[in-house]
Amino acid sequence: MIAFTPEQEEFRKAVARLVDAEVVPAAEAIDERAEFPWTLFKRLGELGYLGLRYPAAYGGADADMVTYCLFAEELARGSLSVAATVAMQSLMGTYFIYKYGTEELRRKYLVPALRGDLVATFALTEPGAGSDVANITTRAERRGDRWVLRGGKTWVTNAPVADVLTVAAKTSAERGMKNIALFLLDRSAMRGIALGKSIDKMAVRGSVTGEIRLDDVEVPPEYLLGGETGGVEKIGSVLSEIRVMTAAISVGIARAAYTAALAYARERVAFGKPIVEHQAIGFKLADMLTRLHAATLMTYQAAARLDAGRAITREAAMVKLFASEMAVRVTDEAARIFASYGLAMEYPIQRYFRDARFLLPGGGTSEILRVVIDRDLDWDRGQAFA
Ligand SMILES: Cc1cc2nc3c(=O)[nH]c(=O)nc-3n(C[C@H](O)[C@H](O)[C@H](O)COP(=O)(O)OP(=O)(O)OC[C@H]3O[C@@H](n4cnc5c(N)ncnc54)[C@H](O)[C@@H]3O)c2cc1C
Repeated sequence: MIAFTPEQEEFRKAVARLVDAEVVPAAEAIDERAEFPWTLFKRLGELGYLGLRYPAAYGGADADMVTYCLFAEELARGSLSVAATVAMQSLMGTYFIYKYGTEELRRKYLVPALRGDLVATFALTEPGAGSDVANITTRAERRGDRWVLRGGKTWVTNAPVADVLTVAAKTSAERGMKNIALFLLDRSAMRGIALGKSIDKMAVRGSVTGEIRLDDVEVPPEYLLGGETGGVEKIGSVLSEIRVMTAAISVGIARAAYTAALAYARERVAFGKPIVEHQAIGFKLADMLTRLHAATLMTYQAAARLDAGRAITREAAMVKLFASEMAVRVTDEAARIFASYGLAMEYPIQRYFRDARFLLPGGGTSEILRVVIDRDLDWDRGQAFA
């Protein structure tokens, strides 16, 4: 059962008004230009939305995960590009600075990033290592009191415009995940960081994604976030939040597609009646709504459990798997209801259809999520229904 508090209901309405007034009208141009959405990014920073999950001492709002998901869902309903950009900034790009950075680093980078004055990102993936994290080859070597980083990253959200990057690198040549560490890189203060051009992609085009080359980047010791080892566990500590957030944005874009398809089905006439009255279309909408409803329940139940301090590794994998696949399916079915007009660039339905594909690799592919779920198949151990 989802029981939002009156504050959460009010919060959602306020975000929904902002999305309808400022995000929905901008979404098409953001997609077309495939540029970082500076205006909305700054605006969301000014309004305090980038700091939802952080303490007030750093300019944050101390919001719970349910509230954050309401924000992410509404934003994705307007534009998945904007939601992906903002999620990176407000969840992963700033998380390790807050969690493992010194007070000085927090003041220098976290505070301006939460205001929208700095762009922050997180870089793990490499050309030869995506799901297989143990295979990363970016190396960090100690020289005197400094670390020197060499290697390359790809598919990094916000990279083409990033000011600060949390980068995963190996502190030893050994294979395996143990010797992975996280480093904070400041692009304006450290030499040898080259940001490549954006990857031209068919989904979330306004959430710019790019490559980074690290050519003997000298990093002061305090920029090593949380020790020489255990980077994978540190990433793991925020992974459930990332997966539940990804489920929330899946619900958001699927709602947009469902709403558009229902309106079209009521208006479009074929064989003498609105197509919604043809049972094949009505049943399609019924299935879409049922899946959407299930994903929404799963998402907010998982968010509430995170707020209760529960470890939900398996549940977060299940929720992200179900919700992202649901969004791909619902946006596909919605496009079918539009038939030819589902292909027309003048309708947003083609954008929903394209954008939803981003939800599959982001936060772990469906295959990897099944591997996580498969590790613990006992019905009662994960308390999925407790
Ligand atoms: C728009 C976008 C933004 C992104 N942003 C970031 C970012 O900001 N930072 C970052 O670090 N990364 C980012 N990524 C990268 C993303 O996390 C990776 O693409 C993802 O981890 C998958 O890696 P891969 O593409 O190399 O696929 P691979 O790991 O090569 O997988 C290829 C296929 O093999 C399957 N597979 C792999 N291993 C197994 C296995 N053990 N069992 C079964 N099947 C398996 C996969 O499911 C997939 O179908 C982004 C990706 C996209 C599309």
